[in-house]
Amino acid sequence: MAVYEVVKNGEPVLRTKAKPVPKVTSNIHKLLDNMVDTMYASRGVGLAAPQIGVSKQVLVLDVGDGLIEVINPEIIESSGTETGIEGCLSIPGIIGEVPRAVKITVKGLDREGQVVTYQATGMMARAFQHEIDHLNGVLFIDIAQNIRKDEKLS
Ligand code: ZN
Repeated sequence: MAVYEVVKNGEPVLRTKAKPVPKVTSNIHKLLDNMVDTMYASRGVGLAAPQIGVSKQVLVLDVGDGLIEVINPEIIESSGTETGIEGCLSIPGIIGEVPRAVKITVKGLDREGQVVTYQATGMMARAFQHEIDHLNGVLFIDIAQNIRKDEKLS
């Protein structure tokens, strides 16, 4: 078990396009394990590798339907737009309304290095888009409206 401190807004790694993973090795397994531990310990619904300081195209998420791990994720289809509230472990205490595609298809590699595709809607689609943005150096505050303090936390 290795829980990392989540990298906060202002660190360059969050603004850097993450590098694709050429091969899924035991180092990537370790990275996934650390990301999963950190996500659950932080009570997040998703985490991207740059958020623990690793500039690689790896994400994990769990919106309540079980753990998903994707390496080199890519959105290959998307439809609809829906605005919803988001926050981010890297920008604590802040929320905003972010337009996202309602339905997406994500393609990438799983832990075994096999090609996987996920069709996601609602919360899961939102979490995928938020984490994939992280891999491109984009934060939700870049595209959110009505950015404000999360009253629940203050
Ligand atoms: Zn985030």
